[in-house]
Amino acid sequence: MPELPEVETVVNAINKSLKSMTIGKFIIMNSKLRWDINKNIPDVVKNKNIQNIYRRGKHIILRLDDGYLIIHLGMTGIIKFIGQMDLNSIGKHDHYEIHLKDKTILRYNDVRKFGSIHWVKNLKDHFLIKNLGPEPLSQEFDGEYLKNKCRNRNTAIKNLIMNQNIVVGVGNIYACEALFLSSIRPHRKCKYVTLKQCDELAKSIKFVLKKSIKSGGTTLKDFKTLDGTPGYFKQKLMIYGCDICKCGTMVKNIKLSGRSSFYCSICQK
Ligand SMILES: [Zn+2]
Repeated sequence: MPELPEVETVVNAINKSLKSMTIGKFIIMNSKLRWDINKNIPDVVKNKNIQNIYRRGKHIILRLDDGYLIIHLGMTGIIKFIGQMDLNSIGKHDHYEIHLKDKTILRYNDVRKFGSIHWVKNLKDHFLIKNLGPEPLSQEFDGEYLKNKCRNRNTAIKNLIMNQNIVVGVGNIYACEALFLSSIRPHRKCKYVTLKQCDELAKSIKFVLKKSIKSGGTTLKDFKTLDGTPGYFKQKLMIYGCDICKCGTMVKNIKLSGRSSFYCSICQK
């Protein structure tokens, strides 16, 4: 599943590849996504300039002259750069295309259809955006912020850091890895996590995400030379999916909110 680092990598790849930033046309091939693609999008985005492309949480935001396209990749969404000769081969999982004036074409493919695209005038008030917590890589997200959110909460710390209203973009794997790095058990109750541990945890979250973004850049480059598809990457993990911890202990795997939560009972307290 595309997580924050993958989305960041896709955003960087699109930014690098686009020369002209004017949309010639937008074509809907299959509107069935998590929410049906609004039929008015082709009309409202035609001839609009893309002023900026960036990430907010796991959303790709295209800021146009007078509004925004909000793209979410869901579980299996892929944005491909395609050539003119690919135009006639439309697969059943291809949903829409953005044609730029320079003849660059972006095609969205989504096997499981959990992705989405919305057009909005006002980004901040949109239901997908308005309740999002701060970006994990921003200065606003630090130990003190986390400690304030932990106060008096009985929730497991892992569920808290995966809550998009608290902080965006910390998926299951990154949550496990960051908790391991900060020596905190995933099921530890928030109210018992100290300020020092919150400091460690905030730093670890930034560390694992940055490391992943960095490794994604290289993988993506290799992928693009093959078939023009930005690929989602596998990387070396310290605890998630591991059998044995570096200390030699068997790694435990418990379910928290239905998600596999790996930890070491010796290294994490
Ligand atoms: Zn260990």
